[in-house]
Amino acid sequence: MPDSETRELREKLGRLQAEDARSEAVVDALNELGFVYYRSDPEQGIQCATEARDLAEALGYSTGLARSYKIQGISKVTLGKYAEAKEDFDRCLEIARDADSWNELASGYMNLGILYRNLGELDAALTCNLNSLSLYEEAGAETGRAAAFINIGNIYANTGEHRKSLDYQARALAIFEKVPDLHRVAIALRNMSAAYRRLGDVESALKHCEKSLALSKELDTPLGIASSYEQLGSLQEMTGETDVAREKYTAALRVCEMVGHRGLLAVLLLGIGRCEGKLGRHEAALRHLQRGIDLAGELEQRSLQAAGYKDMSELFAKQGEFEQGYRCQKLCHDLEQEVSREDTAREIARIELAHEIETKEKEAELHRLRTAELEQEIDERKRVEAALRYSEDRFRKLSMEDSLTGIFNRRYFLDAGSRIASRTELDESGICIGMLDLDNFKRINDQFGHEAGDCVLKGFARVASRCIRPDDVFARYGGEEFAILFRDCDLKDGVEIMNRINEELGREGLLWHGSVIPVTASGGIAHSGELKSPGNLLTDLIRLADSRMYAAKASGRNRILAA
Ligand code: GH3
Ligand code: MG
Ligand code: MG
Repeated sequence: MPDSETRELREKLGRLQAEDARSEAVVDALNELGFVYYRSDPEQGIQCATEARDLAEALGYSTGLARSYKIQGISKVTLGKYAEAKEDFDRCLEIARDADSWNELASGYMNLGILYRNLGELDAALTCNLNSLSLYEEAGAETGRAAAFINIGNIYANTGEHRKSLDYQARALAIFEKVPDLHRVAIALRNMSAAYRRLGDVESALKHCEKSLALSKELDTPLGIASSYEQLGSLQEMTGETDVAREKYTAALRVCEMVGHRGLLAVLLLGIGRCEGKLGRHEAALRHLQRGIDLAGELEQRSLQAAGYKDMSELFAKQGEFEQGYRCQKLCHDLEQEVSREDTAREIARIELAHEIETKEKEAELHRLRTAELEQEIDERKRVEAALRYSEDRFRKLSMEDSLTGIFNRRYFLDAGSRIASRTELDESGICIGMLDLDNFKRINDQFGHEAGDCVLKGFARVASRCIRPDDVFARYGGEEFAILFRDCDLKDGVEIMNRINEELGREGLLWHGSVIPVTASGGIAHSGELKSPGNLLTDLIRLADSRMYAAKASGRNRILAA
């Protein structure tokens, strides 16, 4: 990794910290630095990311927090600390999900996918990468999509589905060429070459690999160069060009020793050893194979180690050293058994994980169902409450209202009247109670029918409502009897309003199917000030007004009496 890059980033970080040591920009810079470090110096990468994490946590900066967990995770993957890395990725995903940060979510899934692939848990790896792919697709992020294609292609390479692998790598290639991202173009080309090799199309494999190598040289990416050389070496080995193969492996080895990629180094040592053996150089072959086997052992790459012992046993057998050959064969066999045991353990772990996921999914589904049920219950309750409220309103209205005329009923008049009466001072203003009774109403019913009578009652209520003031309480007291409570009103004003009602009735009459029904009313009115020592102001006033109303009837109807 270029030192200038880290130096620049360190300087940038220093500047930002001088401005404000506790800002989101500092979190970003720490993460950026951690990301640059993760391949070359993963410990340093973890340190930067941890610093970023603590600051992001304190600032409540969730995107920065998710990113720092991701960088810790990828650094730990580089160190082979897979379990710890998985925890980091899980945490990253959790935060990204809560923060709705699709970008971190997508790359979190991708990294978790890479981790699962390293663990040989290919199903889980595929699921993660498909998740990340769909997020990138949703967001229309082309390079993200292409990166997911590469990873999915790699998984299919592991499962032995090389056609599919090739297809995904080709799709990634097309996108990276368009962007262009030459670094990843080189990777896709090399992966395609590997797929072609597995499919037995050596020619296409060579062509793609040469292209990848040329590009890697142009970009000066040592690991890319070394990997391409290694791939070319193995292709040449296949075609029987052992000399050329040895040359390619050696070229790769030189670059690889420079970079210090030990995994690839072990592969190359074994390759060179094999070629030396085929070329009849027993000593050189043994030396390389032994180094390769030792290194693979150090790295706990059992399959690679086993392959090394197999090559070595063949070498001994060719030399007639059967005892040595047998020893290597046995070591190879033991290692292969170990690998297969590990595979079995891994398979069990995979099944357990699948079971765990299934259980979790079931739990989540149950939770969803329960929530849905609860929501339904809440909806139902809301609906019932609304209906109840409606019927309560309706009931309250019904209990206050006269259904025929829509004005208040007798009960409400008495309730409201006694409330108002209890607050009424026995002075000049006070309240008036007026009682009105339609004249000869029976005759109207008889002459025009009951329905016409109803219509007259409604018409009367309408006319009277227009005449009274908004504060006054107007109610249907009985069949064709009405009551009015005049607030803050002396007797003179009350009489005036009562008379106006009669005048209005007399002027307009009430229409019934085109014919005018003449309607008059007799009324009596009493004022609170008239009662010197009332027992119950309201009932006393009603009684007084009522008696005056009867007096009005007796004295010829169609009149209002106030005394
Ligand atoms: P008066 O002038 O002495 O008050 O004579 P009246 O005919 O108005 O008085 P009476 O008490 O003899 O008759 C009242 C009639 O009102 C009897 C009843 O059938 C009728 N009535 C009461 N309520 C209603 C109603 O809701 N609709 C109709 N159409 N008629 C009603
Ligand atoms: Mg009447
Ligand atoms: Mg009556």
